[in-house]
Amino acid sequence: MKKYQNKINKIRSFALALIFIGFVVMYGAIFFRENPILVIIFMTLGLICMLGSVVVYGWIGLLSTRAVQVVCPGCGKYTKVLGRVDMCMYCNEPLTLDPALEGKEFDQTYNKKK
Ligand SMILES: [Zn+2]
Repeated sequence: MKKYQNKINKIRSFALALIFIGFVVMYGAIFFRENPILVIIFMTLGLICMLGSVVVYGWIGLLSTRAVQVVCPGCGKYTKVLGRVDMCMYCNEPLTLDPALEGKEFDQTYNKKK
């Protein structure tokens, strides 16, 4: 079975991974310090990853304002729902905003438009 995650959390971990990749790539430039062209390529790649992360973080901010805040019935905490179906940020309880989908098995495909 595929593991589902809250969408905002998922995007956030992706942005964090991009920062990490950017650091690793820039660090890699040290090993090629004899070759200035490679250093420039690695530094640029690392910078692109970090800039991408900044963009993704900005995108999360935008998405967060559009997400609906609900109280999770599973853990009682406030969580944000993006799209028709999403998971709780804290306990991964499936949540839906569509009464027609209530009680149905969680499926990510409900978010796709028909
Ligand atoms: Zn919960």
